[in-house]
Amino acid sequence: MSFKALGLDPNILTAIEEAGYTEPTPIQAAAIPVVIAGGDVIGIAQTGTGKTAAFTLPILTRLTSNPVPRDQRRRTRVLVLAPTRELVAQIEENVMAYARHLPLKIAKIYGGVGEKPQKDALRAGSDIVIACPGRLLDLMEQRCADFSQLEYLVLDEADRMLDMGFLPDIRRVINQLPKKRQTLMFSATLSKEIETLTHEFQRAPKVVQIGKRANPAETVTQLVYEVHKHLKMSLLSHLLKDEKMQMVLVFSRTKHGADKIAKKLESTGVKCATLHANRSQNQRLRALDDFKTGTVRVLVATDIAARGIDVDGISHVVNFDFPHIVEDYVHRIGRTGRAQAIGDAISFVSPDELPDVRKLERFINRGLVRKKAEGFDYNAAPQPFSDERPERREQRSQQPRRPQGGGGRPGGGGGQGGGRPGGFGGRPSGQGGGRPGGQGSQGGGGRQGGERRPAAGAGPRPQAQAPQQDTSPAGARGLWKRLTGR
Ligand code: AMP
Repeated sequence: MSFKALGLDPNILTAIEEAGYTEPTPIQAAAIPVVIAGGDVIGIAQTGTGKTAAFTLPILTRLTSNPVPRDQRRRTRVLVLAPTRELVAQIEENVMAYARHLPLKIAKIYGGVGEKPQKDALRAGSDIVIACPGRLLDLMEQRCADFSQLEYLVLDEADRMLDMGFLPDIRRVINQLPKKRQTLMFSATLSKEIETLTHEFQRAPKVVQIGKRANPAETVTQLVYEVHKHLKMSLLSHLLKDEKMQMVLVFSRTKHGADKIAKKLESTGVKCATLHANRSQNQRLRALDDFKTGTVRVLVATDIAARGIDVDGISHVVNFDFPHIVEDYVHRIGRTGRAQAIGDAISFVSPDELPDVRKLERFINRGLVRKKAEGFDYNAAPQPFSDERPERREQRSQQPRRPQGGGGRPGGGGGQGGGRPGGFGGRPSGQGGGRPGGQGSQGGGGRQGGERRPAAGAGPRPQAQAPQQDTSPAGARGLWKRLTGR
């Protein structure tokens, strides 16, 4: 299918051509006609599937085919709400590109920077406002925005906005908008909470969801390295010796952890930047820019800060800490393999994180491939932390070593096979092999040596321990199916 067949405005078609897109992605092909026809949409899609264009292109087409009288031009016609500043900035970048041949004004609104320019942009009149809910509400309360003629509302990454506690702000914003409007909602998941939102804010929405093409589960090779916590840093440095790891996004669970990883990598000569909530907006934009332009090879980020990062060419995502929440895993790995590119998602998993891996494996109904790094010493003793105070290091060195195999703390002796102390034991370790369950096409079979099948058969291994509860959220089992069609 061509973009032309979707009924888009000729100026927009020119901009699409200039962006280098040759055909619509599945979410675009499905959503664009519905939006052009005036319907509400629930798009089940992650960032990376082309969803920004899926809502922007038809809205721009409708704006140009229904121009407003001159005296109403100061009023905003489109409002896009998104959870993070980075996502707002990215959406704005895309909208500017798609609207480059149209006489439209676009404003972006988010916290962490001065209010004045944003207030000025709202007061001067912007056709399209792209905003984080919190700051927007502040400015609405100061009566800077005029949404009395609003025609289109987009809630992007609605699931994430709910997770981040934005629901009260979203309600307060939406209650001040005209009831007669077109509302488009995008979310990676279709949970009960999202369904409630759609009943509240939409009218007879049509559900569209991504096809296979940009699905990270298909385009990303997912590997697990079982490694004790104290060796994760050296494993990362070891893997980074491979030049194929050109553009690497490392996820840390905490801000402090992210800083520590970056500091350590810098000390070994690897150029990196960090992205987390303690960094100023300018520092974050700079970090993203340095990563995009290749000034740094590694970007270390926390989940919230990295949400929505749209950087082409990320070769590897590394989960330095394995995420507790299944959806976070899906979002993290979606940072690579974007728009059909192929990438690797690598997870470092220490014994205490294995239950989270099993939870994910049950959720996606398949096992993840275990891999061993060649030439890496899995039995190395803990290294002193470089940022540790000398007296603490001294104390640590005087502490008696724990007996081997005595309950999860590393300390040497963890062999690479069965019966390893520290919590990795007991997993059958079949050699070689491609991806479990015959899934995936790239890099599955025949990758460098040392890959192991997670368990006989495709799915999660049988649970030998006490039965574990499926803690995934309501409707979660269906999520992977919805995302992957499997
Ligand atoms: P999004 O899901 O909106 O974050 O888009 C992910 C990436 O796909 C962005 O870098 C877009 O520029 C790119 N993209 C969007 N639509 C297309 C398309 N039809 N063909 C190729 N790339 C696209």
